[in-house]
Amino acid sequence: MAMIGVDLDDTVKDTLRCVNEFYEIETGIKIPLSKYTTYLWEDVWGCTREEAIARWHRFVDSENYDRTPPIEGARDSLCSLSLKNNLAIITSRPEINKQRTEEWVRRNIPGIEFEFFYTRGFEGGKRAKGDICIENGINLIFEDDISNSLECAMKGIDVIMFDKPYNLGLEHGKIQRVSSWAEALKIYECLNGHRENA
Ligand SMILES: [Mg+2]
Repeated sequence: MAMIGVDLDDTVKDTLRCVNEFYEIETGIKIPLSKYTTYLWEDVWGCTREEAIARWHRFVDSENYDRTPPIEGARDSLCSLSLKNNLAIITSRPEINKQRTEEWVRRNIPGIEFEFFYTRGFEGGKRAKGDICIENGINLIFEDDISNSLECAMKGIDVIMFDKPYNLGLEHGKIQRVSSWAEALKIYECLNGHRENA
């Protein structure tokens, strides 16, 4: 069976939406998700970098972090993909979050055996997602992040990239944009058809 790579935050887990709700709980200010056109949340929130990082850590320390639900359609789509593929969660989270990360996945996406890859190990250092894909024979990844998508695409890996306000504008021959998991599965079927006929 082929192995497929799947990013976690904002591909499977609805992280930014919940961070934004946490911001609203703390400040009483409602910000539409469409305003998150940058990864620099301090620019969206109008605060310092330090304050933004501190808020992220309060979010991670809160119950809201573990209670964050999956993105609509992710669970069913991953179940369907798992019938014909091995699935690997490839996350930029540090490996120190391993236990909490894998508990969340087991609880929210039950019934699938995932492999887990963390780009930042216990001893520091950072591995590129594209290199993890190549080492493990993965030639397709589902992703939302601009730099990870581009890096994988440039290494010849097919990327199915979810449209987000912060990743608009990126175009590459190996990147196919989708706005939902339903659409992502359709693109997957097309790519898979091409591979089977190749
Ligand atoms: Mg992500």
